[in-house]
Amino acid sequence: MSTYKFYEQVNKNFDKAAKYTRFDKGILAQIKICNTVYHVTFPVRRDDGSIEVVEGWRVEHSHHKLPTKGGIRYSHKVDEDETMALAALMTYKCAIVDVPFGGAKGGIKISTREYSENELERITRRYTYELIKKGFIGPGVDVPAPDYGTGAREMGWILDTYRQMKDDLNAEACVTGKPIQQGGIRGRTEATGRGVYFGIREACNNKKDMDRIGLSTGIDGKTFVVQGLGNVGYHASKYMTEAGAKLVGVAEIEGSIYDENGIDLEKLMEYRKDTGSIIGFENTKELKDRDNALTAECDILIPAALESQITGDNAAEVKAKIIAEAANGPTTADAHDILKERGALILPDTYLNAGGVVVSYFEWLKDIQHVRYGRLSKRFDETSLKKILRVIENISDRDFTDAELADLARGAGEYDLVDSGLEETMITAYEQIAEVREKHNLNDLRTAAFVGAIDKIGIMYEQMGIFP
Ligand code: NAD
Repeated sequence: MSTYKFYEQVNKNFDKAAKYTRFDKGILAQIKICNTVYHVTFPVRRDDGSIEVVEGWRVEHSHHKLPTKGGIRYSHKVDEDETMALAALMTYKCAIVDVPFGGAKGGIKISTREYSENELERITRRYTYELIKKGFIGPGVDVPAPDYGTGAREMGWILDTYRQMKDDLNAEACVTGKPIQQGGIRGRTEATGRGVYFGIREACNNKKDMDRIGLSTGIDGKTFVVQGLGNVGYHASKYMTEAGAKLVGVAEIEGSIYDENGIDLEKLMEYRKDTGSIIGFENTKELKDRDNALTAECDILIPAALESQITGDNAAEVKAKIIAEAANGPTTADAHDILKERGALILPDTYLNAGGVVVSYFEWLKDIQHVRYGRLSKRFDETSLKKILRVIENISDRDFTDAELADLARGAGEYDLVDSGLEETMITAYEQIAEVREKHNLNDLRTAAFVGAIDKIGIMYEQMGIFP
């Protein structure tokens, strides 16, 4: 178990960055503090009839924008410190990618593997009831989403519970990451991993950044190791391999494997589904212990499991030139300094895994608008494009094939628009962070990202005044 206090780690990064901003101590203290912390315990009936007390939290870190937003985590490691740290990261993350929400996070201290689906449903519904009762959920108040240990199924239960208890026209916007049939959005499941890929691609396409670390530009041909093959780790790896990168190492709960010739991701997922483990997968060698994958030879390391994985104890052994923080807080502050000393490029969590909240924002907008993206424009765009293509045919001696026509005259549907909005956001945010880095001569994207976030939030507080 980690001895690092996660919230303290986040605040260390904040303090380092705050020196580059112009705000007075009071404003900085207000930005940094967690505004509200709700701790709840409630009884749950197990399938065998026994009663168990379950513990949960919801932390709203910043109300400078509403609603607040952040995932709900189910893990036996959940505690108040972790939830506060994750809520704070959400505030900075939203500011970095220009999503107009304050940060929040929730957590329930349970190991999901020890509960049946029915028990998990009872726990989720009761937790939601507690949030409703205390005003910690609502489309304009606080909007949860999936995180470690939760997914669309849990978000569906949350919505259903909320809808049972509230006459709210915008009920579907009370939570994001829902199944499509319940107001979810196409592209949300893979959004965080997809955003991780876009972020890594941006960095790899930046010649200056690649020159600094001695790598060629582009993702194609680069090797990577992933820790955690869950929602974020799997999808990030999927898009990385599709873009030509080579997956050479994987760490999961049961251990870690390595193959310098490349690991077939889809086959590995199948193998794990069948055997319950990644160990023994074709041609791979098993590493001595689970964390050895973090220090294995590769160009890019993608920690996509939990916080405090790269620490002062193992950072010096990490060989990757790019640390792509798909998880929240995977690198402790002392490890960050060791990695930077060696000249590694760290793509910070506050930027890199923001794809989830970006697409959650699109989902929330869809739900309060009560209309699917593309519904009004798709057919119109297709008809207009076809007209243009016909004109081109008439003035040239070239007729398009049916396949070309279908491809060139395709109107954007919901998935296309979401994906393009996510890509645009990740590109723009990288440019903004890189600009702050140059302005302050920082050579550190994490500090630059924090400086950018503090600047945006600080201005909000200055303009808002303090009520009453
Ligand atoms: P998940 O539950 O889908 O997957 C996590 C995976 O990590 C699981 O397969 C688990 O077995 C594995 N794991 C746990 N401990 C490990 C260890 N010590 N070594 C190797 N593997 C380990 O969770 P997720 O949603 O993919 O979240 C992963 C991280 O990404 C978390 O830090 C989360 O806060 C962050 N994140 C998630 C989202 C999202 O949309 N889901 C958004 C932003 C950030």
